[in-house]
Amino acid sequence: MYLNPIPAFSDNYLWLLHDGKRAVVVDPGDAEPVMRALQEYELQLESILVTHHHPDHTGGVDTLRNATGAQVFGPARERIPEPLIRLAEGDTVQALGLEFRVIDVPGHTAGHIAFYTPDMDGRPLLFCGDTLFSGGCGRLFEGTPAQMLASLDKLAALPGNTRVCCTHEYTMSNLRFALAVEPDNLELIGYHAQCASLRNDGRPTLPTSIAQELLINPFLRTRQATVKAAAQAFDPAAHDDNTLFAAIRQWKNEFK
Ligand code: ZN
Ligand code: FE
Repeated sequence: MYLNPIPAFSDNYLWLLHDGKRAVVVDPGDAEPVMRALQEYELQLESILVTHHHPDHTGGVDTLRNATGAQVFGPARERIPEPLIRLAEGDTVQALGLEFRVIDVPGHTAGHIAFYTPDMDGRPLLFCGDTLFSGGCGRLFEGTPAQMLASLDKLAALPGNTRVCCTHEYTMSNLRFALAVEPDNLELIGYHAQCASLRNDGRPTLPTSIAQELLINPFLRTRQATVKAAAQAFDPAAHDDNTLFAAIRQWKNEFK
């Protein structure tokens, strides 16, 4: 199997998974670069997976469906270009001989879903849309901090070696914030250097892994003493899981 992030717009990745013949694309905000990749590698697009309704994740769906006849799978609770197979927590999707499990991850949007498969060439694989980023998480456009924390907790509980395919290259700016939260986190300092060198070579920092994010991502670390203390320095009223998470999210929103 081949897993390729197709760059689109200024910082999106449209993830293409294929076996040399058949392909799946996740969150195709733009059809054009996907069509080019399908032609270049002579692939038949079998399925389109959509995590949430934002245009940078759905803009290419109609064009790709019309051009290839691919089936579209998306969140049950959001408005996505029809026809579409509507999915919620516990549903499964068969594609390329893999079984993807649907996980509800509300927060960035109200009906956001993620796709997880336990074994793609020997390791788990997650498509998480705009819920989890390397070093960060999505903005709370439609959900509450408590919802987003519960969603991130579900993703954090997946096996550590899960490859995490995020849909934006936000890593460097996220890590700049993460270093403000945890300036003495040695894992974070090392990961920042590693990602900086990837970006200098024009390469993606993704996929990341759950194990990596547990070590460096402040939004998965709000229960750690270091992150908790930093959150309370920003907002002295923060005291429990949800308010500490909300403080970190608010601090990131204001961070320059
Ligand atoms: Zn989005
Ligand atoms: Fe997005």
